[in-house]
Amino acid sequence: MSKVKYYYDSDALSYRKIERKKGRKTKIFILSSLGILLSGFLLLLIYLNLPFLETPKEKALKRELTNMELQFEFINKKMYQAEAVLSEIEDRDNNIYRVYFETNPISEEQRKAGFGGINRYKDLEGFDNSELIISTSKRLDILTKQIVIQSKSLDEIAKLAEEKEKLLTAIPSIQPVKNEELTRMASGFGYRSDPFTKVRKFHWGMDFTAPRGTPIYATGDGIIKRSDRRASGYGRHVRIDHGFGYISLYAHLYKYNIKKGQKVKRGDLIGFVGSSGRSQAPHLHYEVFKDGNRVNPLNFYYGNLTAKEFAELLKKAELENQSLD
Ligand SMILES: [Zn+2]
Repeated sequence: MSKVKYYYDSDALSYRKIERKKGRKTKIFILSSLGILLSGFLLLLIYLNLPFLETPKEKALKRELTNMELQFEFINKKMYQAEAVLSEIEDRDNNIYRVYFETNPISEEQRKAGFGGINRYKDLEGFDNSELIISTSKRLDILTKQIVIQSKSLDEIAKLAEEKEKLLTAIPSIQPVKNEELTRMASGFGYRSDPFTKVRKFHWGMDFTAPRGTPIYATGDGIIKRSDRRASGYGRHVRIDHGFGYISLYAHLYKYNIKKGQKVKRGDLIGFVGSSGRSQAPHLHYEVFKDGNRVNPLNFYYGNLTAKEFAELLKKAELENQSLD
């Protein structure tokens, strides 16, 4: 209810009501309507989020958001590069290292395993940029996992390399008597006629003819398994256990200067050429065992022979002559 106002009429000496003019009321009505409309319009503008209505804080936040999106894009590009580098390393790992060390390659499934099951990106859902953030996080997680797998694989390769190096130094791979000290390579691995019975029989080693007292060298790293003259036919002989299933045997020695259980390196002097045991003339009878079977020692000489020397040795070793046993 609007207030009733009065004024004092000095002529009539009494209070009279102030009558409001009709026009004034209309004016107030129009003005307030306009006011309401204007406020509504302003609210609408704010609701529509028009740029000229943004507060400085909003403007700063918006800039930050744009910058963040750019950063994400940049990170994604960087990640693409990292993925490319990693994939090249994986390739090298599977096709070179693992092939060289004779191990199975790591399959694609193994490399990318462990990403099913629970939704680990639930917390990232429901935002404007959820898709971008989730896809980036996923990519990064996969990349991290792949790097961990690759790193483990390289640890394994390093171990294999170490083993391989041990194997390479252990395998009997040099000639037990120096080339310049050989009178001749008398006989190789294969059927030869026996020097005593003249019967054709298998000769299980290689005979290196050299004067009595010529030094004999260990053909690979290992431990002296035997050095005695108790084996029939071999005379004074030495056996070196190289590990990995390899044993080398040196027979008909004049003497040896090592003891059972002693560690030797490839190239160490172990004894001297002689003619002890079942032997016709001073020579070294040399054998190589792999997993208990005698194999052709010639297959292991890659240590100290040139290609030409090796070819010559091969030719001589293949001649079916008489062995010195
Ligand atoms: Zn022989």
